[in-house]
Amino acid sequence: MDIKARSNIIGHKNEIDFLTTLYVNKKLPSSLMFLGPSGIGKRLVAINYAKMINCSSDTNKPCNTCQNCIKIENNLSPDFYIIKPEEKKNVIRIDEARNIKKQSSASIYESAYRIFIIDDAQKMNFQTQNALLKTLEEPIGNNLFILISDSLTGIFDTIVSRCYVVKFMPLAISDVSNHLINNCKMNKETSNFLAKYTGGKIGEAIRLVRTDLLARRSEIINVLTKRSRINNFPEVNLSAKGMIRDDIKFMLSWFRDLLLVKTGQREEFIINIDRMAEIENCAKWYTVSDFYKIINDLISYEDYIDYNVNSKIIRDNLMTIVK
Ligand SMILES: [Zn+2]
Repeated sequence: MDIKARSNIIGHKNEIDFLTTLYVNKKLPSSLMFLGPSGIGKRLVAINYAKMINCSSDTNKPCNTCQNCIKIENNLSPDFYIIKPEEKKNVIRIDEARNIKKQSSASIYESAYRIFIIDDAQKMNFQTQNALLKTLEEPIGNNLFILISDSLTGIFDTIVSRCYVVKFMPLAISDVSNHLINNCKMNKETSNFLAKYTGGKIGEAIRLVRTDLLARRSEIINVLTKRSRINNFPEVNLSAKGMIRDDIKFMLSWFRDLLLVKTGQREEFIINIDRMAEIENCAKWYTVSDFYKIINDLISYEDYIDYNVNSKIIRDNLMTIVK
């Protein structure tokens, strides 16, 4: 019985031990809630837990080779559902809750348990939660609901109280960094940067690698490390708000590091550790109060994005910072 040994899960030993104990001792509740920061692997644990519970091997569950394990892994099992927010609206609609109700009252096809994973459960709207609540309140047969959420805000107390809440802790920076070195073939410095920059959120680290944002970050830092940099700010796709948000985050982490060096903090707190020599050099160009002003300005530009301020205005403001 070892979920971790046969999956790519990083960390979460205590959470997995606890979940395994629930299963082994036949204390599986009808609803679980996996609660913890986004991007740390809660969904991966949920999928592998589903495999373990339905695995047909006598030992070594999940075996990853039986039909049940393979079908769940490939989302082909008729007794396994992953419910996610609708892409455009970013909300889980009532139709999903109605569908869950219908499916959960039918006979189970071929597995020991029928499992519903509700990912980003905090994105269920009012009507969806109301409809789901009725299903959770009257559990039928071997249905297991796993709600995954990064926050309890916006989730009805009545739903939370129906669930056995399992709190997922953030991953250790060193675990994330080692995973990136071993599985994504990254060098030590870059993986260290990614682990620290994302605060141990492996999902976010992988997003940065896959979407080529590391190259974008290099472009931005290259501009910030030159003294004559007026109008050198890299081209911004003005229709991509996400891109400006990432730009601002890169800049914030950069100036935060400069401030830490300026005020004599230890190197272990530096995020952009792969650019340490440049950080030490650039920190000399500013006073501490310059840093506070720049950092405050950047934080307010981040807010501009949420307030739907025109992207060009935000970009022009960023350019004033890099002068
Ligand atoms: Zn199996």
